[in-house]
Amino acid sequence: MNLIKTLLDLIFPLECRICKKTLAAGNLTYICPECFTRIRFIKEPYCLKCGRPLRPFENRVCKNCQKEKRFFKKICSVGLYQGVMREAILLLKYQKVKALISPLGKLLLKYCQENLKMNDFDLVLPVPLYRSKRREREFNQAEVFARMIAEHYSLPLFQKNLLRIRDTRTMSGLNPEERRRNVKDAFLVKRKEEVKNRRILLIDDICTTGATVDECCKVLLTAGAKEVTILTLARTS
Ligand SMILES: [Zn+2]
Ligand SMILES: [Zn+2]
Repeated sequence: MNLIKTLLDLIFPLECRICKKTLAAGNLTYICPECFTRIRFIKEPYCLKCGRPLRPFENRVCKNCQKEKRFFKKICSVGLYQGVMREAILLLKYQKVKALISPLGKLLLKYCQENLKMNDFDLVLPVPLYRSKRREREFNQAEVFARMIAEHYSLPLFQKNLLRIRDTRTMSGLNPEERRRNVKDAFLVKRKEEVKNRRILLIDDICTTGATVDECCKVLLTAGAKEVTILTLARTS
């Protein structure tokens, strides 16, 4: 079925989901290169801790980060979850447009190069999906991007160490407190020796309130990790 679809897509060129221009033959990304270049990196001001975009002149560490304990060291995100970025992530996640893996991965690598000191990390981990959800989605995009970064920077990526041991409700429509409760005790570190005293770069696709990644950080720190920095493709505003 997938093969037939791919063949049809090659014969009848697709149009860009954003600007509706016809894509070059063989371009299966559903987004034209021009629209892709319109994805902008998140610009200051944003919270130095959680990365949430701030209004000008707001305190550089947001109110929530001042008030609540955070287990992560810092959350970094490439772009806002809107426009082309949102469309691309939804196409990859739900319509399995795997042709988008490469251009989105390149955005992450460019972000790493320009904004992070990669020597500060000992290993890369993806935020895991629950087993049945991973089967249903066919792949975990966080894992695909984590592998790209790990390979590019020759960092170890330990598969199936951080696990999601409980299926969690979808987070959309939940308030911050409900989100926190929804992911509580949902993760487990299987081999503590792999993370002990390590500085970890944890990868996910989207960050909303940071509840999921913070819960991951909590179990990683409990398992002995030294610190955890988060990198996500997108961030809700
Ligand atoms: Zn376009
Ligand atoms: Zn913050």
